[in-house]
Amino acid sequence: MAVDLLAFPFIGGRHALNFVGTLGKRGQGDIERLGAPADLVRWAEQAGLANCTASAADLEAARQLREAMYRLTMATVSRVPVQTEDVAVINEWAARETAVPALALRSGVLERDDSESPASAVLAAVARDAIDLLTGPEAASIRGCEDPTCTLLFVDTSRSNRRRWCSMDRCGARAKMRTLRSSS
Ligand SMILES: [Zn+2]
Repeated sequence: MAVDLLAFPFIGGRHALNFVGTLGKRGQGDIERLGAPADLVRWAEQAGLANCTASAADLEAARQLREAMYRLTMATVSRVPVQTEDVAVINEWAARETAVPALALRSGVLERDDSESPASAVLAAVARDAIDLLTGPEAASIRGCEDPTCTLLFVDTSRSNRRRWCSMDRCGARAKMRTLRSSS
């Protein structure tokens, strides 16, 4: 099955890791899935976080936060020292206001209020999730996809604790094909 490389992967199990995954194939071509402010809006919507607006400055901030989150995640996984600048970036965004869920009554029908939030509300939500993830019990279960060209991260919640691939569609199937080919 062909995978659209520019489609956002939501395989991380956490907003923080899904957000980090908006830059694909790190160090091997770097597939930037947040190419324009509209991409950030689309990601927030697909993540179910907020209906937001985004400017070029928001996009720049989003990428900066994302890379700080990536470095801190890798530092947590490989137990290498963290950069204090990265900690500061995450704390700064986590302190901003997040989107508050609200109800709207339209012609007597209850709906979710979908009025627009600023992009900072989305960045605040992912930064808070990163703090929760990196200091919580799931930190020990963060893994990288075993496909060396993939670089996506996920929380391994499998019962065996031996999940190897970001997803079967993306990398698992390809690995299976390679195994089949080499054994025939
Ligand atoms: Zn993968």
